[in-house]
This record gives sequence, structure tokens and C-alpha cells, in this order.
Amino acid sequence: MSEVVKKIVIIGTGGTIAGNAASEKEFVNYSAGEKEAAELLLGIPMPDNIEIETIELCQIDSKDMTFSILKKMAVVLNDLMGRDDITGVVITHGTDTLEETSVFLNCTVVPTKPIVLTASMRPSTALSADGPLNLLDSIMLASSDHVGIFALINNTIYLAEEVIKSHTLKVDGFYAGDFGAIGHVYNSEVEFFRNVKHDKKMNVSLDKLPDEDKSYPWVEIIYSDVSANGQLISLLVDNGVDGFIINGTGNGTVHQNLLNVLKSMDITVPTAVTTRVPTGKIMNDQYGLIVSPYSHAAKARMWLTLWLLNSR
Ligand code: ASP
Repeated sequence: MSEVVKKIVIIGTGGTIAGNAASEKEFVNYSAGEKEAAELLLGIPMPDNIEIETIELCQIDSKDMTFSILKKMAVVLNDLMGRDDITGVVITHGTDTLEETSVFLNCTVVPTKPIVLTASMRPSTALSADGPLNLLDSIMLASSDHVGIFALINNTIYLAEEVIKSHTLKVDGFYAGDFGAIGHVYNSEVEFFRNVKHDKKMNVSLDKLPDEDKSYPWVEIIYSDVSANGQLISLLVDNGVDGFIINGTGNGTVHQNLLNVLKSMDITVPTAVTTRVPTGKIMNDQYGLIVSPYSHAAKARMWLTLWLLNSR
């Protein structure tokens, strides 16, 4: 009897996984987002029962990710979730802003199939490039019956919204802090270590998302450290900022200079606190500021932007 064919959609966005360097010894200087998704599949030993469809969404270095691209991604994913002929979806992405895309998708897409974000730390032209295996492992995860939004890199499965880039160069460049990895893929076998709590932080309907970047709320991150003086807060308020993330110290503590400015201006701009500490939840409501569900500043900025849109 022939095996059931599973159709997986690969959405290409660029990143180092699609990056080209001048030689196979070059790991550092390269252009991200040079190859189309279809090209990334060349040479991958695809199982016979898997059929691939590709969607070329964009070819960028993910440091340049935009809201308008993310909206297009959410619209495409929404359509794919409604298609009966699709088993799962893989998104090839840069590693630099995987955090923000994960939070965006958590808040805008309701997964009914596996959605897997994957990336690589070495360009596609490098000796021992990590992209092909990450892509094959992601395809295997996307063809499983695990519903959710996942990130897969270096054989390791994470819940996408929990993942943090933790190394500038190494292949093992991601972790998930206290949450940890949720599974792995070896020899194309997908194994989950435990049941996973899928925690949807918000449900933002697609019609709340503007098409143009300039129509998204303006949220700025203010760093709380020894040099903090609060002048930037006043300047930004005078110029119409819509929200602040105060990237605090420790358990979301904030420099008194910043607190004084926030208090003296009687600021009504929604302000959420995060922490520069890489791991751990913030348990601190002493300032009356919003405690972001994400303690990572870039994730919190994405979350607050979506929260502001949702409350429009
Ligand atoms: N700058 C690259 C990107 O985010 C880095 C990577 O993918 O590893 O697109």
C-alpha cells in the first residue's frame, strides 16, 4: 500500500539560511536572503511521502523585518490553516528577529496545524552549513500531528514565543530560558519531551493590522541603567510616542531618574516594564506600570504594539 502523501508549505523570507558568502570558509561576511525557498530544498533528501509547495514571501535579512511583511505572513498563514490539503507549514527566517516574529504570530494566528519557524546560523554556502538539516527537521515536524507555533534550530524544538537568540555565531544559538526545549528531531524522528502549554497572549484579528508600517503604533524602548536620565522619555512624549517599554534591571526595577520623569509628566502613555536580565519572569507591580507577559524587551515591544492596535 502506498504511503499517504503529506503536503508541506515552505514560506521563504530570507535570512542566513538563504544567505550566500564568497567561499565555503566564510562564515561571517555574507549576504542574507539571497536564495529563494525553492532553492533551499535542492539536495535535501526528502522523504517520498512528502510533497512541497513554496511561497516566496520576501528575501530579506531579518534585521530589516517590517510590520507589513509580518501582516502578509499572518494573512498567508491564515489561508493555509483553512486548507485541507496542507499538513503543516515551515517558515524560513533570519535568526536576528525570530523573537519578534514569534510573538507577532502568537498574537495573530490561530494554528490548526504545525507552523515551524526555522533559521540557520551559517550561510547556505558554508562548510557544514546548518540550514539544510534545520529545514529537513522542520519539514518532519511540520508533517507531524503537533499543532502549534514552533521554532526549530540545531535539532531542537521550542515553543516559538519562548525562544531567545543567545549566541551571535554558534550553531547552537538559541535557548528558551526557564521554559526549556520541548522536543527534538533526530534521524527525522520527531520526539516531544512533554506536553506543551500553548499560551495565546492575545487574539488580534487581521483587520486590526494596518497594511502600511507607518500606521502601526510607535512604541519605544527606554533602557534603565546607571546612566538613565529620562530626557529621552520627555522628548518622545512631546513627539507623540504611543507606548514605552522600560527595559529595567533585575526583577523589573526602574531607575529613580526614569520614575521621576514618568511621574512629573503625569504620563498617560501605556508603559510596560521588562528586564535586561536574560532569564526569569518579572513579579513586580510596585510602580503601577504594565507588567509585560514577555520580559524580553523586543518581544514586549511587539506585544505592546499589538495590544495598542487591539485596543483601537
Ligand atoms: N542577519 C541574519 C538574519 O537575521 C542572521 C541570521 O539569519 O542568522 O537574517
